[in-house]
Amino acid sequence: MSTTIWWIRRDLRLTDNPALTAAVARGSPVIPCFIIDSQLIGSPNTGEKRRTFLLGGLVALAADLRARGGNLIIRQGDPLAELTRLQAESGATAIFAEADFSPYARSRDARVAAHLPLHLVSGPTVHHPANVRKSDGTPYTVFTSFKKAWLSLPLPTAVDLLPAPERLYTPTLASLPLPEVTPLAAFPPGEAEAQRRLQRFLAGPIAYYANARNRLDQDGTSQLSPYLRFGMLSARQAVVAALEAITAGSGEGTQSWLSELIWREFYVSILYHFPDAGRHSLRPQYEHIPWQNDPDDFAAWRAGFTGYPVVDAAMRQLAVTGWIHNRARMIVASFLAKDLLIDWRWGQRWFMDHLVDGDPAANIGNWQWTAGVGADATPYFRIFNPVVQSKKFDPQGHFIRRWLPELAAVPDLYIHAPWEMPIEVQKKSGCRIGRDYPVPIVDHHFARQRALRAYAQAWARGGK
Ligand code: FAD
Repeated sequence: MSTTIWWIRRDLRLTDNPALTAAVARGSPVIPCFIIDSQLIGSPNTGEKRRTFLLGGLVALAADLRARGGNLIIRQGDPLAELTRLQAESGATAIFAEADFSPYARSRDARVAAHLPLHLVSGPTVHHPANVRKSDGTPYTVFTSFKKAWLSLPLPTAVDLLPAPERLYTPTLASLPLPEVTPLAAFPPGEAEAQRRLQRFLAGPIAYYANARNRLDQDGTSQLSPYLRFGMLSARQAVVAALEAITAGSGEGTQSWLSELIWREFYVSILYHFPDAGRHSLRPQYEHIPWQNDPDDFAAWRAGFTGYPVVDAAMRQLAVTGWIHNRARMIVASFLAKDLLIDWRWGQRWFMDHLVDGDPAANIGNWQWTAGVGADATPYFRIFNPVVQSKKFDPQGHFIRRWLPELAAVPDLYIHAPWEMPIEVQKKSGCRIGRDYPVPIVDHHFARQRALRAYAQAWARGGK
Protein backbone atom coordinates (compact mmCIF):
# COMPACT_ATOMS: atom_id res chain seq x y z
CA MET A 1 0.00 0.00 0.00
CA SER A 2 1.26 3.49 -0.83
CA THR A 3 1.95 5.79 2.09
CA THR A 4 2.87 9.46 2.50
CA ILE A 5 5.54 10.90 4.76
CA TRP A 6 4.84 14.17 6.53
CA TRP A 7 8.37 15.39 7.28
CA ILE A 8 8.13 17.74 10.27
CA ARG A 9 10.85 20.34 10.72
CA ARG A 10 9.76 23.64 12.21
CA ASP A 11 6.01 23.12 11.94
CA LEU A 12 5.20 21.26 15.15
CA ARG A 13 1.44 21.67 14.94
CA LEU A 14 -1.68 20.07 13.50
CA THR A 15 -3.78 23.23 13.03
CA ASP A 16 -3.26 25.29 9.89
CA ASN A 17 -0.53 23.05 8.61
CA PRO A 18 -0.51 23.06 4.79
CA ALA A 19 2.13 20.31 4.55
CA LEU A 20 0.15 17.98 6.80
CA THR A 21 -3.10 18.84 5.00
CA ALA A 22 -1.49 18.06 1.62
CA ALA A 23 -0.16 14.76 2.94
CA VAL A 24 -3.56 13.76 4.33
CA ALA A 25 -5.31 14.81 1.09
CA ARG A 26 -3.55 12.00 -0.78
CA GLY A 27 -5.83 9.59 1.06
CA SER A 28 -3.09 7.12 1.97
CA PRO A 29 -1.74 6.38 5.47
CA VAL A 30 0.39 9.27 6.75
CA ILE A 31 3.73 8.85 8.48
CA PRO A 32 4.46 11.92 10.63
CA CYS A 33 8.21 11.88 10.93
CA PHE A 34 10.70 14.07 12.76
CA ILE A 35 14.38 13.51 12.07
CA ILE A 36 16.69 14.76 14.76
CA ASP A 37 19.27 16.18 12.38
CA SER A 38 22.68 15.23 13.79
CA GLN A 39 24.23 18.29 12.20
CA LEU A 40 21.78 20.66 13.91
CA ILE A 41 21.33 18.96 17.27
CA GLY A 42 25.10 18.57 17.68
CA SER A 43 25.88 22.14 16.61
CA PRO A 44 27.30 24.42 19.30
CA ASN A 45 24.75 26.99 18.07
CA THR A 46 21.81 24.84 19.13
CA GLY A 47 21.50 26.06 22.69
CA GLU A 48 20.41 23.82 25.52
CA LYS A 49 17.15 25.65 26.18
CA ARG A 50 16.10 25.66 22.55
CA ARG A 51 16.88 21.96 22.30
CA THR A 52 14.78 21.30 25.42
CA PHE A 53 11.90 23.33 23.99
CA LEU A 54 12.06 21.48 20.68
CA LEU A 55 12.22 18.04 22.26
CA GLY A 56 9.36 18.94 24.60
CA GLY A 57 7.46 20.07 21.52
CA LEU A 58 7.91 16.61 20.02
CA VAL A 59 6.43 15.02 23.13
CA ALA A 60 3.41 17.34 22.91
CA LEU A 61 3.00 16.72 19.18
CA ALA A 62 3.18 12.96 19.68
CA ALA A 63 0.33 13.19 22.22
CA ASP A 64 -1.76 15.33 19.84
CA LEU A 65 -1.18 12.81 17.06
CA ARG A 66 -2.04 9.84 19.28
CA ALA A 67 -5.34 11.50 20.17
CA ARG A 68 -6.19 11.30 16.45
CA GLY A 69 -4.97 7.77 15.92
CA GLY A 70 -1.58 8.77 14.44
CA ASN A 71 1.90 8.03 15.60
CA LEU A 72 5.02 10.19 15.56
CA ILE A 73 8.06 8.42 14.12
CA ILE A 74 11.34 9.84 15.41
CA ARG A 75 14.64 9.10 13.74
CA GLN A 76 18.09 10.57 14.21
CA GLY A 77 20.88 11.11 11.69
CA ASP A 78 21.37 12.62 8.29
CA PRO A 79 17.93 13.62 6.89
CA LEU A 80 18.55 12.21 3.41
CA ALA A 81 19.82 8.86 4.72
CA GLU A 82 16.98 8.57 7.25
CA LEU A 83 14.27 9.52 4.77
CA THR A 84 15.66 7.06 2.23
CA ARG A 85 15.50 4.32 4.85
CA LEU A 86 12.00 5.30 5.94
CA GLN A 87 10.80 5.35 2.37
CA ALA A 88 12.16 1.85 1.79
CA GLU A 89 10.53 0.58 5.00
CA SER A 90 7.14 2.19 4.39
CA GLY A 91 6.78 2.22 0.60
CA ALA A 92 6.08 5.98 0.74
CA THR A 93 5.54 7.52 -2.65
CA ALA A 94 5.63 11.15 -1.56
CA ILE A 95 7.16 13.30 1.17
CA PHE A 96 5.45 16.55 2.16
CA ALA A 97 7.19 19.23 4.21
CA GLU A 98 6.76 22.88 5.02
CA ALA A 99 9.39 24.92 3.17
CA ASP A 100 12.12 26.48 5.27
CA PHE A 101 14.14 29.40 4.00
CA SER A 102 17.38 29.43 6.01
CA PRO A 103 20.55 28.78 3.98
CA TYR A 104 21.13 25.44 5.73
CA ALA A 105 17.53 24.30 5.25
CA ARG A 106 17.54 25.22 1.58
CA SER A 107 20.69 23.28 0.81
CA ARG A 108 19.44 20.29 2.86
CA ASP A 109 16.11 20.29 1.02
CA ALA A 110 17.76 20.61 -2.38
CA ARG A 111 19.88 17.56 -1.55
CA VAL A 112 16.85 15.55 -0.42
CA ALA A 113 14.76 16.66 -3.42
CA ALA A 114 17.50 15.48 -5.78
CA HIS A 115 16.97 11.89 -4.56
CA LEU A 116 13.47 11.62 -3.12
CA PRO A 117 9.92 12.76 -4.06
CA LEU A 118 9.97 15.81 -1.76
CA HIS A 119 7.13 18.34 -2.10
CA LEU A 120 7.71 21.62 -0.27
CA VAL A 121 4.52 23.35 0.74
CA SER A 122 4.03 26.94 1.89
CA GLY A 123 6.52 28.00 4.59
CA PRO A 124 7.00 29.57 8.01
CA THR A 125 5.90 32.98 6.67
CA VAL A 126 2.65 34.31 5.22
CA HIS A 127 4.31 35.32 1.97
CA HIS A 128 7.13 33.39 0.33
CA PRO A 129 10.20 35.67 0.43
CA ALA A 130 10.60 35.33 -3.33
CA ASN A 131 7.14 36.88 -3.80
CA VAL A 132 7.84 40.15 -1.97
CA ARG A 133 10.08 41.96 -4.43
CA LYS A 134 10.41 45.31 -6.10
CA SER A 135 9.02 45.72 -9.61
CA ASP A 136 12.54 45.21 -11.00
CA GLY A 137 12.74 41.85 -9.23
CA THR A 138 15.29 42.89 -6.60
CA PRO A 139 14.60 42.34 -2.90
CA TYR A 140 13.55 45.09 -0.52
CA THR A 141 16.18 46.22 1.96
CA VAL A 142 14.08 48.95 3.56
CA PHE A 143 11.40 47.79 5.98
CA THR A 144 8.69 50.39 5.22
CA SER A 145 8.76 49.55 1.50
CA PHE A 146 8.81 45.82 2.27
CA LYS A 147 5.83 46.25 4.59
CA LYS A 148 3.86 48.18 1.98
CA ALA A 149 4.52 45.53 -0.67
CA TRP A 150 3.80 42.73 1.83
CA LEU A 151 0.43 44.25 2.75
CA SER A 152 -0.50 44.73 -0.91
CA LEU A 153 -0.29 40.98 -1.62
CA PRO A 154 -3.38 38.80 -0.95
CA LEU A 155 -3.68 38.30 2.80
CA PRO A 156 -5.16 35.24 4.51
CA THR A 157 -8.50 35.34 6.29
CA ALA A 158 -10.00 33.02 8.91
CA VAL A 159 -11.53 30.78 6.22
CA ASP A 160 -8.05 30.04 4.85
CA LEU A 161 -6.87 28.55 8.14
CA LEU A 162 -6.75 24.79 7.83
CA PRO A 163 -8.37 22.65 10.52
CA ALA A 164 -6.37 19.88 12.16
CA PRO A 165 -7.17 16.48 10.61
CA GLU A 166 -9.73 14.56 12.65
CA ARG A 167 -8.21 11.11 12.18
CA LEU A 168 -4.84 9.83 11.04
CA TYR A 169 -3.61 6.34 10.40
CA THR A 170 0.10 5.59 10.71
CA PRO A 171 1.43 2.11 9.88
CA THR A 172 3.63 0.46 12.49
CA LEU A 173 7.25 1.52 12.03
CA ALA A 174 10.30 1.65 14.24
CA SER A 175 10.85 4.90 16.10
CA LEU A 176 13.27 6.23 18.67
CA PRO A 177 11.59 6.59 22.06
CA LEU A 178 10.11 9.97 22.91
CA PRO A 179 12.75 12.20 24.49
CA GLU A 180 12.68 12.59 28.25
CA VAL A 181 12.84 16.28 29.02
CA THR A 182 11.80 18.58 31.80
CA PRO A 183 9.95 21.41 30.07
CA LEU A 184 11.13 24.98 30.62
CA ALA A 185 8.96 26.60 33.27
CA ALA A 186 8.61 29.86 31.32
CA PHE A 187 7.81 28.18 28.00
CA PRO A 188 5.74 24.99 28.21
CA PRO A 189 6.06 23.47 24.74
CA GLY A 190 3.25 22.55 22.37
CA GLU A 191 0.47 23.75 20.16
CA ALA A 192 -2.15 23.97 22.93
CA GLU A 193 0.05 26.36 24.91
CA ALA A 194 0.69 28.46 21.80
CA GLN A 195 -3.07 28.77 21.21
CA ARG A 196 -3.62 29.66 24.86
CA ARG A 197 -1.00 32.41 24.70
CA LEU A 198 -2.40 33.83 21.51
CA GLN A 199 -5.94 33.98 22.96
CA ARG A 200 -4.71 35.51 26.23
CA PHE A 201 -2.76 38.17 24.35
CA LEU A 202 -5.70 38.99 22.05
CA ALA A 203 -8.08 39.24 24.99
CA GLY A 204 -6.17 42.07 26.66
CA PRO A 205 -2.52 43.00 26.30
CA ILE A 206 -2.67 43.63 22.54
CA ALA A 207 -4.68 46.81 23.20
CA TYR A 208 -1.80 48.34 25.19
CA TYR A 209 0.97 46.78 23.13
CA ALA A 210 2.10 49.97 21.37
CA ASN A 211 3.36 51.39 24.68
CA ALA A 212 3.74 48.36 26.94
CA ARG A 213 5.92 46.44 24.48
CA ASN A 214 8.92 48.55 25.38
CA ARG A 215 8.51 48.33 29.13
CA LEU A 216 11.03 46.00 30.71
CA ASP A 217 9.04 45.87 33.93
CA GLN A 218 5.80 44.70 32.29
CA ASP A 219 4.65 41.60 30.42
CA GLY A 220 3.33 43.66 27.55
CA THR A 221 4.22 41.36 24.66
CA SER A 222 2.85 38.02 23.49
CA GLN A 223 5.89 35.87 24.35
CA LEU A 224 4.98 33.78 21.34
CA SER A 225 8.40 33.91 19.66
CA PRO A 226 9.52 30.35 20.59
CA TYR A 227 6.16 29.00 19.38
CA LEU A 228 6.42 30.87 16.07
CA ARG A 229 10.05 29.74 15.80
CA PHE A 230 9.06 26.07 15.86
CA GLY A 231 5.71 26.50 14.14
CA MET A 232 3.66 25.46 17.17
CA LEU A 233 1.57 28.39 15.95
CA SER A 234 1.31 29.26 12.27
CA ALA A 235 2.39 32.76 11.26
CA ARG A 236 -0.78 32.84 9.18
CA GLN A 237 -2.96 32.35 12.22
CA ALA A 238 -1.15 35.12 14.10
CA VAL A 239 -1.53 37.49 11.14
CA VAL A 240 -5.21 36.58 10.65
CA ALA A 241 -5.82 37.30 14.35
CA ALA A 242 -4.16 40.71 14.03
CA LEU A 243 -6.02 41.59 10.81
CA GLU A 244 -9.36 40.55 12.32
CA ALA A 245 -8.72 42.68 15.39
CA ILE A 246 -7.83 45.64 13.16
CA THR A 247 -11.04 45.18 11.13
CA ALA A 248 -13.00 45.03 14.38
CA GLY A 249 -11.65 48.48 15.18
CA SER A 250 -8.86 47.69 17.61
CA GLY A 251 -6.32 50.44 17.89
CA GLU A 252 -2.68 51.26 17.55
CA GLY A 253 -1.55 48.26 19.62
CA THR A 254 -2.74 45.76 17.03
CA GLN A 255 -1.26 47.72 14.13
CA SER A 256 2.02 47.76 15.94
CA TRP A 257 1.90 44.01 16.67
CA LEU A 258 1.13 43.29 13.01
CA SER A 259 4.19 45.36 12.11
CA GLU A 260 6.36 43.15 14.32
CA LEU A 261 5.05 40.06 12.56
CA ILE A 262 6.01 41.75 9.28
CA TRP A 263 9.50 42.54 10.65
CA ARG A 264 9.81 38.81 11.20
CA GLU A 265 9.04 38.22 7.52
CA PHE A 266 11.35 41.06 6.48
CA TYR A 267 14.30 39.35 8.12
CA VAL A 268 13.35 35.98 6.63
CA SER A 269 13.43 37.74 3.27
CA ILE A 270 16.79 39.40 4.01
CA LEU A 271 18.46 36.08 4.87
CA TYR A 272 16.78 34.39 1.91
CA HIS A 273 18.16 36.96 -0.52
CA PHE A 274 21.47 37.55 1.29
CA PRO A 275 22.43 34.12 2.62
CA ASP A 276 25.84 35.43 3.72
CA ALA A 277 24.29 37.92 6.17
CA GLY A 278 25.39 35.84 9.16
CA ARG A 279 29.00 36.32 8.16
CA HIS A 280 29.10 39.72 6.50
CA SER A 281 27.60 43.12 7.20
CA LEU A 282 25.02 44.02 4.59
CA ARG A 283 26.66 47.44 4.38
CA PRO A 284 30.09 46.43 3.11
CA GLN A 285 31.76 49.63 4.36
CA TYR A 286 31.19 48.36 7.91
CA GLU A 287 33.18 45.21 7.30
CA HIS A 288 36.22 47.17 8.44
CA ILE A 289 35.22 48.41 11.88
CA PRO A 290 38.31 48.27 14.12
CA TRP A 291 36.68 46.09 16.80
CA GLN A 292 38.37 45.97 20.22
CA ASN A 293 37.14 42.41 20.91
CA ASP A 294 38.45 42.46 24.47
CA PRO A 295 37.86 38.96 25.92
CA ASP A 296 37.39 40.27 29.48
CA ASP A 297 34.75 42.74 28.35
CA PHE A 298 33.01 39.97 26.42
CA ALA A 299 33.06 37.71 29.49
CA ALA A 300 31.59 40.51 31.66
CA TRP A 301 28.82 41.11 29.11
CA ARG A 302 27.98 37.41 28.87
CA ALA A 303 27.83 36.93 32.62
CA GLY A 304 25.94 40.17 33.36
CA PHE A 305 28.72 41.93 35.27
CA THR A 306 29.32 45.08 33.23
CA GLY A 307 28.34 47.49 36.01
CA TYR A 308 25.38 48.79 33.98
CA PRO A 309 22.32 47.36 35.77
CA VAL A 310 19.94 47.28 32.81
CA VAL A 311 22.49 45.42 30.69
CA ASP A 312 23.35 43.01 33.49
CA ALA A 313 19.72 42.29 34.41
CA ALA A 314 18.92 41.42 30.79
CA MET A 315 21.98 39.20 30.36
CA ARG A 316 21.17 37.32 33.55
CA GLN A 317 17.54 36.92 32.52
CA LEU A 318 18.76 35.51 29.20
CA ALA A 319 20.99 33.00 31.00
CA VAL A 320 18.18 31.84 33.30
CA THR A 321 15.12 31.85 31.03
CA GLY A 322 16.43 31.90 27.45
CA TRP A 323 14.22 34.89 26.59
CA ILE A 324 14.38 38.67 26.95
CA HIS A 325 12.27 41.59 25.76
CA ASN A 326 13.00 43.14 22.40
CA ARG A 327 13.97 46.41 24.12
CA ALA A 328 16.40 44.55 26.37
CA ARG A 329 17.86 42.76 23.33
CA MET A 330 18.46 46.10 21.63
CA ILE A 331 20.08 47.59 24.74
CA VAL A 332 22.51 44.73 25.31
CA ALA A 333 23.30 44.38 21.60
CA SER A 334 24.02 48.09 21.26
CA PHE A 335 26.16 47.96 24.40
CA LEU A 336 28.22 45.08 23.03
CA ALA A 337 28.76 46.43 19.53
CA LYS A 338 29.06 50.13 20.31
CA ASP A 339 30.08 50.63 23.96
CA LEU A 340 32.44 47.65 24.05
CA LEU A 341 33.29 47.65 20.34
CA ILE A 342 32.94 43.89 20.17
CA ASP A 343 32.10 42.36 16.79
CA TRP A 344 28.30 41.97 16.53
CA ARG A 345 28.83 38.40 15.25
CA TRP A 346 30.15 37.38 18.69
CA GLY A 347 26.95 38.62 20.29
CA GLN A 348 24.81 37.07 17.60
CA ARG A 349 26.37 33.64 18.27
CA TRP A 350 25.95 34.04 22.04
CA PHE A 351 22.26 34.84 21.53
CA MET A 352 21.89 31.83 19.25
CA ASP A 353 23.37 29.64 21.99
CA HIS A 354 20.97 30.93 24.61
CA LEU A 355 17.67 32.04 23.10
CA VAL A 356 14.71 29.65 23.20
CA ASP A 357 13.44 31.51 20.13
CA GLY A 358 16.89 31.70 18.49
CA ASP A 359 16.21 31.94 14.79
CA PRO A 360 18.90 32.65 12.19
CA ALA A 361 16.89 35.21 10.21
CA ALA A 362 15.54 37.24 13.14
CA ASN A 363 18.75 37.04 15.11
CA ILE A 364 21.13 38.00 12.32
CA GLY A 365 18.80 40.72 11.01
CA ASN A 366 18.33 42.30 14.42
CA TRP A 367 22.01 42.14 15.33
CA GLN A 368 22.93 43.83 12.08
CA TRP A 369 20.20 46.40 12.68
CA THR A 370 21.34 47.23 16.21
CA ALA A 371 25.02 47.32 15.29
CA GLY A 372 24.09 49.70 12.47
CA VAL A 373 25.63 47.53 9.77
CA GLY A 374 22.56 45.93 8.19
CA ALA A 375 19.51 46.45 6.03
CA ASP A 376 17.54 49.51 7.05
CA ALA A 377 19.68 49.60 10.18
CA THR A 378 19.73 52.12 12.95
CA PRO A 379 22.20 54.90 11.97
CA TYR A 380 25.74 54.39 13.26
CA PHE A 381 25.54 57.51 15.43
CA ARG A 382 22.48 56.22 17.29
CA ILE A 383 24.17 54.77 20.35
CA PHE A 384 21.85 53.75 23.17
CA ASN A 385 22.71 55.34 26.49
CA PRO A 386 22.09 52.45 28.90
CA VAL A 387 21.20 54.76 31.78
CA VAL A 388 18.70 56.78 29.76
CA GLN A 389 17.15 53.57 28.37
CA SER A 390 16.91 52.14 31.86
CA LYS A 391 15.19 55.21 33.30
CA LYS A 392 12.74 55.29 30.42
CA PHE A 393 11.77 51.64 30.21
CA ASP A 394 12.22 50.45 33.81
CA PRO A 395 11.47 53.66 35.72
CA GLN A 396 11.24 52.16 39.22
CA GLY A 397 13.94 49.57 38.59
CA HIS A 398 11.60 46.59 39.11
CA PHE A 399 13.19 44.68 36.23
CA ILE A 400 16.69 45.41 37.51
CA ARG A 401 15.91 44.34 41.07
CA ARG A 402 14.26 41.15 39.86
CA TRP A 403 17.44 39.93 38.17
CA LEU A 404 20.13 41.62 40.27
CA PRO A 405 19.43 40.74 43.89
CA GLU A 406 22.60 42.56 44.98
CA LEU A 407 20.87 45.83 44.00
CA ALA A 408 17.58 44.99 45.74
CA ALA A 409 17.97 47.65 48.46
CA VAL A 410 19.54 50.34 46.27
CA PRO A 411 17.24 53.42 46.31
CA ASP A 412 15.34 54.31 43.11
CA LEU A 413 17.48 57.40 42.70
CA TYR A 414 20.61 55.31 42.08
CA ILE A 415 19.20 52.09 40.66
CA HIS A 416 20.07 52.99 37.06
CA ALA A 417 23.61 54.23 37.82
CA PRO A 418 24.60 52.72 41.17
CA TRP A 419 28.22 53.91 40.88
CA GLU A 420 26.88 57.38 41.68
CA MET A 421 25.78 56.25 45.15
CA PRO A 422 27.54 58.09 47.97
CA ILE A 423 29.45 55.70 50.20
CA GLU A 424 26.95 56.03 53.07
CA VAL A 425 24.11 54.99 50.74
CA GLN A 426 26.21 52.05 49.52
CA LYS A 427 26.70 50.93 53.13
CA LYS A 428 23.03 51.38 53.98
CA SER A 429 21.82 49.44 50.94
CA GLY A 430 24.35 46.64 51.48
CA CYS A 431 25.83 47.17 48.04
CA ARG A 432 29.43 48.36 47.91
CA ILE A 433 30.40 49.25 44.35
CA GLY A 434 33.49 47.30 43.37
CA ARG A 435 32.74 44.61 45.95
CA ASP A 436 29.07 43.60 45.69
CA TYR A 437 28.45 45.03 42.24
CA PRO A 438 31.04 45.99 39.60
CA VAL A 439 32.32 49.42 38.75
CA PRO A 440 31.23 50.07 35.10
CA ILE A 441 33.68 48.34 32.78
CA VAL A 442 33.56 51.29 30.41
CA ASP A 443 32.51 54.93 30.65
CA HIS A 444 29.57 55.38 28.30
CA HIS A 445 30.54 58.89 27.19
CA PHE A 446 34.09 57.82 26.35
CA ALA A 447 32.75 54.66 24.64
CA ARG A 448 30.33 56.67 22.55
CA GLN A 449 33.09 58.86 21.14
CA ARG A 450 35.28 55.82 20.54
CA ALA A 451 32.49 54.07 18.64
CA LEU A 452 31.80 57.12 16.52
CA ARG A 453 35.48 57.27 15.57
CA ALA A 454 35.62 53.54 14.80
CA TYR A 455 32.53 53.65 12.56
CA ALA A 456 33.79 56.79 10.81
CA GLN A 457 37.14 55.09 10.21
CA ALA A 458 35.44 52.03 8.73
CA TRP A 459 33.29 54.24 6.55
CA ALA A 460 36.36 56.12 5.29
CA ARG A 461 38.21 52.87 4.55
CA GLY A 462 35.26 51.08 2.95
CA GLY A 463 34.06 53.95 0.77
CA LYS A 464 30.51 55.16 0.53
P1 FAD B 1 5.96 40.28 20.31
O1 FAD B 1 6.35 41.66 20.63
O2 FAD B 1 4.70 39.78 20.87
O3 FAD B 1 5.95 40.16 18.71
C1 FAD B 1 5.22 39.12 18.03
C2 FAD B 1 6.16 38.31 17.18
O4 FAD B 1 6.71 39.12 16.15
C3 FAD B 1 7.34 37.73 17.91
O5 FAD B 1 7.01 36.55 18.60
C4 FAD B 1 8.34 37.52 16.78
O6 FAD B 1 8.08 36.33 16.11
C5 FAD B 1 8.04 38.69 15.86
N1 FAD B 1 8.94 39.81 16.13
C6 FAD B 1 8.80 40.78 17.05
N2 FAD B 1 9.80 41.67 16.96
C7 FAD B 1 10.62 41.23 15.98
C8 FAD B 1 11.83 41.72 15.41
N3 FAD B 1 12.42 42.84 15.83
N4 FAD B 1 12.40 40.99 14.44
C9 FAD B 1 11.84 39.85 13.99
N5 FAD B 1 10.69 39.36 14.47
C10 FAD B 1 10.08 40.03 15.45
N6 FAD B 1 13.35 37.17 17.56
C11 FAD B 1 13.30 35.86 17.35
O7 FAD B 1 12.20 35.30 17.17
N7 FAD B 1 14.45 35.09 17.32
C12 FAD B 1 15.68 35.65 17.52
O8 FAD B 1 16.69 34.94 17.46
C13 FAD B 1 15.75 37.05 17.77
N8 FAD B 1 16.96 37.65 18.00
C14 FAD B 1 17.00 39.00 18.24
C15 FAD B 1 18.24 39.62 18.46
C16 FAD B 1 18.32 40.98 18.72
C17 FAD B 1 19.66 41.64 18.93
C18 FAD B 1 17.14 41.75 18.76
C19 FAD B 1 17.20 43.24 19.02
C20 FAD B 1 15.90 41.16 18.52
C21 FAD B 1 15.82 39.79 18.26
N9 FAD B 1 14.58 39.15 18.01
C22 FAD B 1 14.54 37.80 17.77
C23 FAD B 1 13.34 39.93 17.82
C24 FAD B 1 12.49 40.19 19.07
O9 FAD B 1 13.28 40.66 20.12
C25 FAD B 1 11.72 38.96 19.54
O10 FAD B 1 11.05 38.36 18.45
C26 FAD B 1 10.66 39.36 20.58
O11 FAD B 1 11.27 40.00 21.65
C27 FAD B 1 9.92 38.12 21.02
O12 FAD B 1 9.01 38.43 22.03
P2 FAD B 1 7.45 38.29 21.80
O13 FAD B 1 7.12 36.97 21.24
O14 FAD B 1 6.79 38.66 23.08
O15 FAD B 1 7.21 39.38 20.69
